[in-house]
Amino acid sequence: MSDADTIFSRIIRGEIPAHRVYEDQHVFAFLDINPLSEGHTLVIPKRPVALLHELPADEAAAIGRVLGRIAAAVVEAVGAAGYNVLQNNGAVAGQVVDHVHFHIIPRAADDGLGYRWNAQPVESDALAALADRLRARLS
Ligand code: AMP
Repeated sequence: MSDADTIFSRIIRGEIPAHRVYEDQHVFAFLDINPLSEGHTLVIPKRPVALLHELPADEAAAIGRVLGRIAAAVVEAVGAAGYNVLQNNGAVAGQVVDHVHFHIIPRAADDGLGYRWNAQPVESDALAALADRLRARLS
């Protein structure tokens, strides 16, 4: 398990300023300093781990319990038409800060943010074989 003492741990400890919007025993949420849109919020566990799967299940569940509530508050506060929840794991996936974080990104029609979803069809046999391997790992 990583022990990522990043800028986000310093924010949780109050060593550097942030605009806090929510806090409980396991969870901290604050406004992104470089927002993609008004209301862009980061929801993070207090435990300093880099990757989602390194988070103990009860602490991941603690985020799950409040993520929708925080998103709803953000959407209502800024009058967004929708939102993306984005959670990057690893540099190759776009993660810059090595402390688990969920982005809540309010969206508006024609906001210019866009997204890429370069999907490719795959043969059913290949999907079936992959699902077998995954079930074996998860059983
Ligand atoms: P990611 O690329 O998924 O690792 O996202 C990291 C996010 O953290 C970016 O959106 C940054 O703008 C944000 N960020 C970095 N430093 C701070 C900070 N001191 N306060 C608030 N947000 C920050």
